[in-house]
Amino acid sequence: MAGVIAEPPLSRTRTDRAADARVRPDLVPSLLTDAATRVLLVHAGAVVTRDGGQGGQELALLDPGEAALLSPGGKLPEGWAFLGHDDAPGGGRGTAYLARLVPDVASAVLVPGDRWSPLREVGGQLSARDAGLATAAVALEAWHVRHPRCPRCGEVTVSHSAGWVRRCTADGSDHYPRTDPAVIMAVVDGRDRLLLGHSAHWPENRFSTLAGFVEPGESVESAIRREVLEEVGVTVGGVEYRGSQPWPFPASLMLGFRARALSEDITVDGEEVTQARWFERTELRAAVRSGSVLLPSSTSIARMLIEEWYGSELPDAI
Ligand SMILES: [Zn+2]
Repeated sequence: MAGVIAEPPLSRTRTDRAADARVRPDLVPSLLTDAATRVLLVHAGAVVTRDGGQGGQELALLDPGEAALLSPGGKLPEGWAFLGHDDAPGGGRGTAYLARLVPDVASAVLVPGDRWSPLREVGGQLSARDAGLATAAVALEAWHVRHPRCPRCGEVTVSHSAGWVRRCTADGSDHYPRTDPAVIMAVVDGRDRLLLGHSAHWPENRFSTLAGFVEPGESVESAIRREVLEEVGVTVGGVEYRGSQPWPFPASLMLGFRARALSEDITVDGEEVTQARWFERTELRAAVRSGSVLLPSSTSIARMLIEEWYGSELPDAI
């Protein structure tokens, strides 16, 4: 295997996060007085988009006046997050981007033609800049919604540092957005066959690579071996890192690997995985074409790991 897999859709970005600017207490208020600032609306894993070039979607980026009109409320500092800025031509800081964390879809009025689009569906259609902005916004919004209270004392927290910290109103402790590492692995045996599994809560015929969360105090290599052994009873030897993708639904970072199987017999756990089997390339291609295997979406790193093993893109069912 030469190099790592191509950049997954939600790993793309063009924006300088400018983390050093977040500590300025006046950062968001001052950007909201600048007509050049652009605002994207985010709620529950979705962003507002409109038709863009080549039949895809692009972010519906509003100026601060439009954002205040269409999504009123949002008393500072709650409800806003600073996402970064473009690099200006010739150097320096260009257009700044804010996320408006919309509390509920009904509270926002959209421009005709604009729509709420789930990031996991449109991520692959967005430009690199839009994908990076939308992924950060979705991750931050999910974290704010789930962490209204202090994990130390239970009191209310408030947004701080331009949306990148929540501070406890009672004990002053700071709490940061969390990211949960998860491993996802293309397990390949000595005959170069790929192991794919089906989970009970997936649509019928959906098969994908195995995956699972890294547990506290565990290395990613150990997590891979544990998950594969638990879910299908296969022993894994060497593992090779292939690439990563943020998966903010709500807080995962998917770490993609190729894993070498040392055994072939499959025993599914019946809970996480209810079916699993080895595929040769011709078998998988035929199964996908006939619809007896439905692969994960092209936004997922799972699809990229599968296609890397296969050697090219795989068709969808015909
Ligand atoms: Zn507290």
